[in-house]
Amino acid sequence: MYTQDIIKMIKTNYPDQKEFHQAVQEVLVSLEPVIAKDKKYQDNAILQRMVMPDREIAFRVDWMNDEGEVQANTGYRIEFNSAIGPYKGGLRFHPSVNSGIIKFLGFEQVFKNSLTTLALGGAKGGSDFDPKGKSDAEVMRFCQAFMNELYRHIGACTDVPAGDIGVGAREIGYLFGQYKKLTNRFDGVLTGKGLTWGGSLARPEATGYGCVYFAQEMLKERGESLSGKICTVSGSGNVAIYTVEKLYHLDAIPVSVSDSKGTIHDKNGIDLDLLKEIKEKRRESLEEYAKIKSDCKYIKISDYQEGTHPVWSIPCFAAFPSATENELNLYDAKTLLQNGCKCVSEGANMPSTIEAIELFLKSKICYGPGKAANAGGVAVSGLEMAQNASMYSWDFESVDKKLHSIMESIFVKSSETAKEFGDPTNLVLGSNIAGFRKIADAMIDQGI
Ligand code: GLU
Repeated sequence: MYTQDIIKMIKTNYPDQKEFHQAVQEVLVSLEPVIAKDKKYQDNAILQRMVMPDREIAFRVDWMNDEGEVQANTGYRIEFNSAIGPYKGGLRFHPSVNSGIIKFLGFEQVFKNSLTTLALGGAKGGSDFDPKGKSDAEVMRFCQAFMNELYRHIGACTDVPAGDIGVGAREIGYLFGQYKKLTNRFDGVLTGKGLTWGGSLARPEATGYGCVYFAQEMLKERGESLSGKICTVSGSGNVAIYTVEKLYHLDAIPVSVSDSKGTIHDKNGIDLDLLKEIKEKRRESLEEYAKIKSDCKYIKISDYQEGTHPVWSIPCFAAFPSATENELNLYDAKTLLQNGCKCVSEGANMPSTIEAIELFLKSKICYGPGKAANAGGVAVSGLEMAQNASMYSWDFESVDKKLHSIMESIFVKSSETAKEFGDPTNLVLGSNIAGFRKIADAMIDQGI
């Protein structure tokens, strides 16, 4: 079978890139029916070409810490596919970053961006630099050093990076400042910018809001809603915070958040103001939240049972994995289902393992895979690019309304495609095939 040959090729050629194998396997298996139906994809070697990035850039980033010591990190930008628009995707600064991680994220981004309905190709980048515990001055020097190499590869119509884990408004500011110094250009080369210098309203909220809008659409089709329902959220970054906020707008009760040190279970509902204060302003750990709200339950990471994440043992109607890849395994999926969970909408990239996804699909709950459910962030980045290109900015309501309608159309397209291929509740199949067809057809149109 053609798809299995490609998966085997990836595993042989890149034996250490486990996350990349996982991402490719999940997509290619779900593409089997469309590949079987239409010979043109195999005739044009589309899968071989789609699993290989257009270009991989790796570079050294030298910078100086506050003690005057010289540090060296590795930087990456993987430009995956530009068939339907300029390369687009975030930068991740985290010690776990390596070329396999950036490759899996870049591969996912290609499909996600295709689903947004906008003209966006796919890319991803980042570094093994850890902004945690660093001073603002150290973060600034690192970002400047990172941009000293990156600037030659990017551009408003070439490749437009943004944030991801460890890269927020502060980092985008330093990166943009350095880009401007090096090029003498003020253009939309990065998204997630500050509001007074080209940023879009509703960009910080977009991924979290979009993920909840997607859950709302999945549930609406079954005559259900989030109102009055207990929801669990993992993570406590930008995605998790605005997932919690939108859940409150819809009268749901978000009861959890988590970070690298532990999980909060606040059964009357997460205190959103306190969460924002601790994470967005003070940049502290959730231990501080637990100290201030002594009536909530705090589970330290050292008390976690091996192979499980306590956030998924909290009974809930809907779960929103919004932390990182593979944070939800088969055991967690079983626990969620046993406790009556009816909906999983993924705010993070590839948060569920392949076995967990298989179980969700078999159980026929509402399962919104990350490539569809978390596409709201990059969609509003696309809207930021449109505003920059027209030198005009839209108000919050207009952007939010556009985001809402994009999430609706991603759901409709994924669901219609799933129906077309005879597996109506399988949004993995639906979203992957829908994303794939647009890119593959563009590649064929453009020749080799
Ligand atoms: N890092 C986000 C994602 O995974 C956003 C990317 C962007 O806005 O370009 O989709």
